[in-house]
Amino acid sequence: MTESNSAGSSLRTVSTPSNYIRTMIARDQSNGKYGGRVHTRFPPEPNGYLHIGHAKSICLNFTLAAENGGFCNLRFDDTNPTKESQEYVDAIKDNIRWLGFNWHGEVRYSSAYFNELYSFAIQLVEKELAYVCSLNAEQAREYRGTLTEPGRDSPDRNRPKNESLNLLARMKAGEFADGTYTLRACIDMASPNINMRDPVLYRIRHFAHHQTGNKWCIYPTYDYTHCISDALEGITHSLCTLEFEDHRPLYNWILGQLDLEKLQLASDLAGSSSQYVLPEQTEFAKLKLNYTMMGKRNLKAMVDSGTVDGWDDPRMPTLAGLRRRGVTPAAIRHFCESIGVSRSESVVDLGMLEHAIREDLDRNAPRAMCVLNPLPVLVTNMEEGQVQHLSMANHPKNENMGRRQVPFDRKLVIDRADFAEEPPPGFKRLVPGGEVRLRGAYVIRCDKVEKDASGNITRLLCSADFGTLGQRPQGRKVKGVIHWVSSGHGISSTVRLYDRLFTVENPESSEIEDFRKVLNPHSLQVIENALVEPSVMKEQRRICFQFEREGYFCLDQLDSTTERPVFNRTITLRDSWSG
Ligand code: ATP
Ligand code: MG
Repeated sequence: MTESNSAGSSLRTVSTPSNYIRTMIARDQSNGKYGGRVHTRFPPEPNGYLHIGHAKSICLNFTLAAENGGFCNLRFDDTNPTKESQEYVDAIKDNIRWLGFNWHGEVRYSSAYFNELYSFAIQLVEKELAYVCSLNAEQAREYRGTLTEPGRDSPDRNRPKNESLNLLARMKAGEFADGTYTLRACIDMASPNINMRDPVLYRIRHFAHHQTGNKWCIYPTYDYTHCISDALEGITHSLCTLEFEDHRPLYNWILGQLDLEKLQLASDLAGSSSQYVLPEQTEFAKLKLNYTMMGKRNLKAMVDSGTVDGWDDPRMPTLAGLRRRGVTPAAIRHFCESIGVSRSESVVDLGMLEHAIREDLDRNAPRAMCVLNPLPVLVTNMEEGQVQHLSMANHPKNENMGRRQVPFDRKLVIDRADFAEEPPPGFKRLVPGGEVRLRGAYVIRCDKVEKDASGNITRLLCSADFGTLGQRPQGRKVKGVIHWVSSGHGISSTVRLYDRLFTVENPESSEIEDFRKVLNPHSLQVIENALVEPSVMKEQRRICFQFEREGYFCLDQLDSTTERPVFNRTITLRDSWSG
């Protein structure tokens, strides 16, 4: 098995639904179109962290390659140094591995092809298919025309090729200021497709690049770079999102001008017996989620404005944020599989992602108890200093997850919400004189309520029925079951409760001038004095727990300076938003 498909095959636990891309690849395979090869790539621009939308593209590219015994490259599409950085490169690599995928061979960079791209540019000028243009940005926009009007030819369009070659060399040598010249393809200024109206191939940008340093001061455009990089890497199926559909003619035009023999030499396929066939672009719809901002530009604005606590804030839809929140890679992969792939744009309900997260955690998260809002309980018929270690299953449906010992003693806490002096109708938990079962332990009765001078409840005096461990109480029914923690053995913790960041379905809508106006003010609630059962801290791995009756929580990856553990709520037990 090749390294790139090891992760892909292990995640096909459920039958994978078909889609038009999968069908197309199966057809290409049966026609022997690429000599049986399937080679995809995931091409992020390192100008921000990856988000859940990228996960859709990652899962698609890696899984399709793995299913066909092929490869998937990771290629940084790094042609715009002013917005990119090594920090983003590192985070993206880390996120992809975390999601469970291994790219084929070394990480690729478009910038590693700058020499080849430049020689292809010279070829284009020599064939009179490109020219150096001196229109500035504003003039170029004017000459480009509109959707309803054709463009006009640049006055430089017929520049003799030797003159263009000379200017291009001088552009590269750094003789000209940013914006003074561009290299443009010579295609058709009257084309109904604006992308074909002599698109820019190179621009001058005196800016150091995170990979190539100061070697270049001209940088190729995305459209020019992407197709050639695909070809150089021997990519067969170039999958991208729908906004590139109108760029496809340009993708094909550029590749159509290349000297295939030279290209084959440059590509990964050198020495391979299979006949070289150019890659083809196929588009699919971006993932959009309601109540979520997704564009990297917007996410960066949230980070830069301090609206959130960095790219990995657990409320962010970034993979780093989801990870820190406690979401598992398997949940994200299953979600991406469940939403399918299509050509029509639609908005996926955030509830679907939450469902995938709950499903995964319900199956895999060990159970534990945590009291968020402690109310002291004194078990009066227990001796001072006496401790019982009660054995509890880590998972109600999975014996293999083992058991743990939970200390039970005279001083406990329960949640304030589980006691009511004047209970509303139907209240099944603890009331004065009433009984309730402590989860995994005994039935207790509340004999007395202690209060402070202002009437706040400070403590409950209760007696335990020691005949009720794993047994029904004799002669009466006790309906309620509540969670509890020993106050002496429990670990005082901070708990962060997260909720959706936005109050509106489409925070990216053009009608919203400032996203800060539609933030959910309750997206983060911090609880300082929660008490967690001690077994949780014995777990070495950073995993999610189900804190019984409260939700799923994981230990934050930050070591807090206070040495107190901080837990992030991954998700509530049930969907509290729908309806
Ligand atoms: P953004 O608009 O968030 O910055 P982008 O498309 O500019 O996204 P890239 O780094 O260029 O981000 O994207 C890398 C790959 O991920 C591309 O192939 C792109 O089409 C794909 N991709 C980006 N956003 C989504 C999304 N929401 N759903 C599916 N695929 C996406
Ligand atoms: Mg982009």
